[in-house]
Amino acid sequence: MKMSKKLNCPECKNNIELEKEYSEGDVVECPFCGIELEVVGKNEDGSLRVEIIEEEK
Ligand SMILES: [Zn+2]
Repeated sequence: MKMSKKLNCPECKNNIELEKEYSEGDVVECPFCGIELEVVGKNEDGSLRVEIIEEEK
């Protein structure tokens, strides 16, 4: 079984190729814009569905 390790950043719209598999609840940092994304599920095409984590400093 082949798992997709792709996702589309909702912030910068770049396609990200992940080096490892992530599951729901994991946090991924976008290598393009640096934003933190939480994995919330999977899309029908197998790519990861993510949401932007709003962080205040
Ligand atoms: Zn991004």
